[in-house]
Amino acid sequence: MTTEHYDVIIIGTGAGGGTLAHKLAPSGKRILLLERGGYLPREPENWDSREVFRKDRYLSDEVWYDKDGEAFKPHQQYFVGGNTKFYGAVLFRLRERDFGEIQHYGGLSPAWPISYPDLEPYYTEAEKLYLVHGRAGEDPTEPPRSGPFPYPPVSHEPRIQQLSDDFEKTGHRPFHLPVGVDLNESDPEVGRCVRCDRFDGFPCLTDGKADAHVRCVRPALKRDNVTLVTHAKAEGLVTDSSGHSITEVVVDRRGAREAYSGNIVVVSCGAVNSAALLLKSASDQHPNGLANASDVVGRHYMAHINSGVIAISQTPNPTKFQKTLGINDYYWGAADSGLPLGHIQMLAKSDRNILRGGAPWFAPGLALDYVAKHAIDFWITTEDLPHPANRVTVDRQGRIHLAKTYHNLEPHRRLLAKLKELMGPLGCHDTAIPGWSILDQRIPLAGVAHQSGTVRFGDNPKTSALDINCRAHDLDNLYVVDTSFFPSSSAVNPALTAMANALRVADHLLERLGARVTTAGKPEPAGQLQEVDS
Ligand SMILES: Cc1cc2nc3c(=O)[nH]c(=O)nc-3n(C[C@H](O)[C@H](O)[C@H](O)COP(=O)(O)OP(=O)(O)OC[C@H]3O[C@@H](n4cnc5c(N)ncnc54)[C@H](O)[C@@H]3O)c2cc1C
Ligand code: SF4
Repeated sequence: MTTEHYDVIIIGTGAGGGTLAHKLAPSGKRILLLERGGYLPREPENWDSREVFRKDRYLSDEVWYDKDGEAFKPHQQYFVGGNTKFYGAVLFRLRERDFGEIQHYGGLSPAWPISYPDLEPYYTEAEKLYLVHGRAGEDPTEPPRSGPFPYPPVSHEPRIQQLSDDFEKTGHRPFHLPVGVDLNESDPEVGRCVRCDRFDGFPCLTDGKADAHVRCVRPALKRDNVTLVTHAKAEGLVTDSSGHSITEVVVDRRGAREAYSGNIVVVSCGAVNSAALLLKSASDQHPNGLANASDVVGRHYMAHINSGVIAISQTPNPTKFQKTLGINDYYWGAADSGLPLGHIQMLAKSDRNILRGGAPWFAPGLALDYVAKHAIDFWITTEDLPHPANRVTVDRQGRIHLAKTYHNLEPHRRLLAKLKELMGPLGCHDTAIPGWSILDQRIPLAGVAHQSGTVRFGDNPKTSALDINCRAHDLDNLYVVDTSFFPSSSAVNPALTAMANALRVADHLLERLGARVTTAGKPEPAGQLQEVDS
């Protein structure tokens, strides 16, 4: 087994790891990216809903276990770019108050050790990097911004504009969703996006979606000092005899064991896999797992409480790019609720295969076609609270167990009721998709898209695993930058916060390495990169 040495090793190439690599790349330091998946194949099936939603073409076939030991297939996909290859690219900043302690129906949402102004410059940087389109001043809960969105909002198609007008008539303040996409509506030849109806849950065949692979990993790899090894699953982190430094990252590479060493090791495997990797790396010096003197690693797993709601409109809905409208009027409460409810946004447009994937009772094909043609698709998100018993553990065989009980369902119930009340005034009937139902027992544990919280950061080493720079309290050269550092989940989508935080941690690392670069970085070398799995 040979050991290659790098300045920085980053494990995982998603929102956290990919963004970090992009910012560190111009430093000239030797950077290694280890990714358990390969490049996602570009093929017609990328946009085929039968392949993606019914045949699970891109899902990993791994199996996890719930708190009763029942096996389930997590909705996980492992590719260069991580889950951002499939995300809806709705890129929200947390609200300013989300960084403080907030009372919810189900308990307290804890404060973060940093405040919104600490992250604001990095949100700005991340919005530029990920081509975020939006319009400042529309969203009533929007935090203060140092400038406008870098790109104008993605326009509503006529049916969604009508919906927006109808929301306004009912006293709401609908806004354009912040979306990360390579789209130029005034000159469509310029952007890669062709404005199709395959946005959310599909990979983009034209590279129009601003994902971590296209926006970060690909340009970083144009530099000679950055290396990517695909199909390299990190299996363990080994420390020196003092237990204070990681000396080796042990990897399973297509069945063979390899080891890499780095002055700094950054774990960014997603909240479940990062916790699992740290727990699996237990040793005599760290019997509870790495970075886990506090016993918090794996605990406080959060996943947002989400529901898809299909509204069957009386008029057909021919919209293609539907993910353009959001409602935050109930984020902090309602006339009949002094406590926060949550966020409503459009989902990508459903079709018969997507509906069949989520709604088996709509079995007759004709009914499905009718429903799909008239459907307006909403997604509601309410805050999931961190609870120590909701946790990732690893058994002796290295298998992942995920225990989860929801403790904050009341806001979800109330927000869903609000949306349903509005359906009549908005000219719609409502139908909840059963797989996404609001009932506790019906929320699929396998839906781990918004996973976070398992390796929380904080000021106190007794109650957190990472310090304010996302460095392990217990180890000198170990960092974690995926969504696992979140102490609370808020009720808006998580990816932009992971990206902004990775840029913040990158500044800390550049300083530590004595290699500060400007925000813009040096120009990237020109030319195409051949993307082949290693
Ligand atoms: C269908 C879908 C829609 C979504 N829509 C949105 C949205 O609109 N807005 C939003 O903000 N968020 C959205 N999300 C969530 C968003 O994608 C995640 O929050 C984000 O990608 C998390 O970033 P991360 O760095 O924590 O993890 P990931 O992006 O998942 O990256 C983790 C990486 O680590 C790799 N990896 C895992 N284990 C190992 C290992 N042992 N060794 C080596 N590599 C490993 C993985 O392959 C992956 O590349 C969506 C997610 C899904 C699935
Ligand atoms: S809407 Fe644009 S970015 Fe999204 S999948 Fe279609 S072409 Fe790609």
